[in-house]
Amino acid sequence: MRSIAVLGATGSIGTSALDVIARHPDALRAGVLAAGGNVEALLALCATHQPDHAVIGDMACLPRLQSGLRSAGLATQAHAGAEALCALVAGEACDTVVAAIVGAAGLDSTLAAARAGKRLLLANKESLVLAGELLIRAAREAGATIVPIDSEHNAIFQCLHGREAGADVRRITLTASGGPFRGRSRAQLADVTPAEAVAHPKWSMGPKISVDSATLMNKGLELIEAHHLFGLADARLDVLVHPQSLVHSLVEFVDGSTLAQLGLPDMRTSLAVGLGWPQRIPSGVGALDLAAHGRLDFEPPDLDTFPCLRLAREALRAGGTAPAMLNAANETAVSAFLQGRIGFLSIAALVEDTLAALQVEPAQSLAALGEADARARRHAEHAITTGALQ
Ligand code: NAD
Ligand code: MG
Repeated sequence: MRSIAVLGATGSIGTSALDVIARHPDALRAGVLAAGGNVEALLALCATHQPDHAVIGDMACLPRLQSGLRSAGLATQAHAGAEALCALVAGEACDTVVAAIVGAAGLDSTLAAARAGKRLLLANKESLVLAGELLIRAAREAGATIVPIDSEHNAIFQCLHGREAGADVRRITLTASGGPFRGRSRAQLADVTPAEAVAHPKWSMGPKISVDSATLMNKGLELIEAHHLFGLADARLDVLVHPQSLVHSLVEFVDGSTLAQLGLPDMRTSLAVGLGWPQRIPSGVGALDLAAHGRLDFEPPDLDTFPCLRLAREALRAGGTAPAMLNAANETAVSAFLQGRIGFLSIAALVEDTLAALQVEPAQSLAALGEADARARRHAEHAITTGALQ
C-alpha cells in the first residue's frame, strides 16, 4: 500500500491526483491532505478520502478545521502552517508526495520530501526554477525518486525511461499549446482581461499557471525545469508550438530517432505514471483517437509577441539567482494582473525591468535564493504601486 501526501489537494492537480488514487483502493491511499486557506474544500476532501492528517496553510484556520473534522466524526488529525506540513511530509505518514502547491510557497515542502528520500511527484515547477540545483542535489543524496508531473517533462521522463539525458540525447523539444492568445499581435493583447487569459483552450488548470500559459512564461519556466530535471544545457532545449496539445514533448537521439509521448490533455495520465512507476496503472483517461483528431500542427513560438519565453531563456543562461528573480517577479506580476491592478503586457515588462535592475549573484545557498526572491518581489511590487510601467 502506497501512502500519499497530496499537497495542494484542493487545486486542479490535487483534485486530479485524488481522482487517480481513489481508483486504486487496494494499492493507493491519501494519508495526508494539505491546502492553503480553503477549510470547507479541505473538509469535503477529508470526508471523501479519510486521510490520517489534514494540514491547512493558514494558522488562523486551524480551529475551524479541528471543529469541522470533529463534527463530521472523522479521525483525521488537524494541523496548520508550513512547519507542520514539512514535518508530516518528511515523517512516517507518507512514502509518496504529490507536490502541487502553486508558486514559491511550495518550495519548503518539496525540499522536505526530497531530503526525506520520498517518491516525489513534482508538479510545483516554481520550486525547480527557484532552487533547482539544491533540490536535485538533495533528492540525489537522499535517494528520492523525482517523477515530473508537468505533462511535457512527464512525457520526456517516459521517453527516457526515468534516466537523465545522456550523450545519446541530441535535443529535447518541449511542446506548447500557444495558450489562448496564439496568433494575436502585441497590440491585440493590450486590453485582454484576466477572464480571457485564464480561459485556456486545451487544459483546465489553476489561475496562476493559466496566465503563465497565456504569456508563454509557463514554457519559459518549463525550459528551466527541464534543464534541472534532465541535466541538459539550454542549447539542447527547444520549444515548438503544437496547438492540439496531444504530443506532450519529444526527445531526439543522436541516431536520428525521435521519441514522443502522446495522449489526451488530462493531467491524470502524468499522475498515474508517477503513482504507478515503473508499472502502468489505469488513470481514468480515455484513449487517443488520432483519426478523429485528423491532424497535428507545429509552428515556432512568437518571441516578439510573447517575450516571457525569451526572458526565461536569458535567465537560464545567466544562471545564479536570475531564475529565482524571474520567478518571483512573475508571481508578483501575475497576481497583480489577476487582481486587475496591471494590464497583460505589463507582466513581461515587469519581469524584464526587474531582471535588468537587479544584480545576478551566485546561488550557493537557500538563503541567497530566498533573498533574491524577496528582492525581486519588492522591486516588482514597487514598480506596480508607483505605476512606473503602466
Ligand atoms: P491551483 O491554484 O489549482 O491549486 C493550488 C493549490 O495550492 C491549492 O490547493 C491551494 O490551496 C494550495 N496552496 C496555495 N498556497 C499554499 C500555501 N501557502 N500552503 C499550502 N497550500 C497552498 O494550482 P494548480 O493548477 O493545481 O497548480 C499547482 C502546481 O502544479 C503549480 O506549480 C503549477 O505550475 C503546476 N502544474 C499544474 C498543471 C495543471 O494542469 N494544473 C500542469 C503542470 C504543472
Ligand atoms: Mg506543462
